[in-house]
Amino acid sequence: MRLRKVANAKEKLLQSPDLVFLEPQDHKGKWHQLFKNENSIHIEVGMGKGSFITGMAKQHPDINFIGIEVVESVILRAVEKLKEEPLTNVILMCIDASMLTSVFEDGEIDRVYLNFSDPWPKSRHDKRRLTHHNFLKIFNQILIKNGEIHFKTDNQNLFEYSLISMSQFNMLLKYVSLDLHNSDFEGNVMTEYEERFHGLGQRIYRLEAQFR
Ligand code: SAM
Repeated sequence: MRLRKVANAKEKLLQSPDLVFLEPQDHKGKWHQLFKNENSIHIEVGMGKGSFITGMAKQHPDINFIGIEVVESVILRAVEKLKEEPLTNVILMCIDASMLTSVFEDGEIDRVYLNFSDPWPKSRHDKRRLTHHNFLKIFNQILIKNGEIHFKTDNQNLFEYSLISMSQFNMLLKYVSLDLHNSDFEGNVMTEYEERFHGLGQRIYRLEAQFR
């Protein structure tokens, strides 16, 4: 999905310090305090423009959501939406997923969502895939014991790669759908990419995998 670079995106993000954290390391281990409750914390890594995280936050007001996105001009779109329609159970962070262990204490997170992650099709780029062993290690560290990753994609190769990568990491595959929109799964919240690919008639893959 093409997005024009937004001029002064960083300056614009700096105007919403309670909503988007540009240096979240300062809050490591204190995210429940920031939300002022002990509710579960779910993160979406590579959240894009935020349709999923805001939809989930509305559907589950008793869960705290943190949206993580590395591109400033992309996260700015989510900030603009949330400023129009504020939600007390969502915050955003502009960081790379490789930084997560410096932002979250071990076991501070209850669930990770990965939606339509960049597939990085060339094998020499496999370490950049968010379901690569190195990222699974990071997610396992910040998640509670037996924490889960919920993953959706339109990309069959990335889905197959992820099934293998998670199995090799000894994760339990609890739910696997090869055609989410023709399955019995309830409560699906669509992402921007999902709206687009589903609209084009493409099949959406989904899995839930648990660390053990
Ligand atoms: N999840 C959204 C959706 O389904 O509509 C966006 C999908 S888009 C293909 C992938 C997003 O992940 C991009 O916005 C990209 O900037 C972000 N991303 C890729 N690698 C990342 C990383 N290592 N850390 C944080 N965000 C990342």
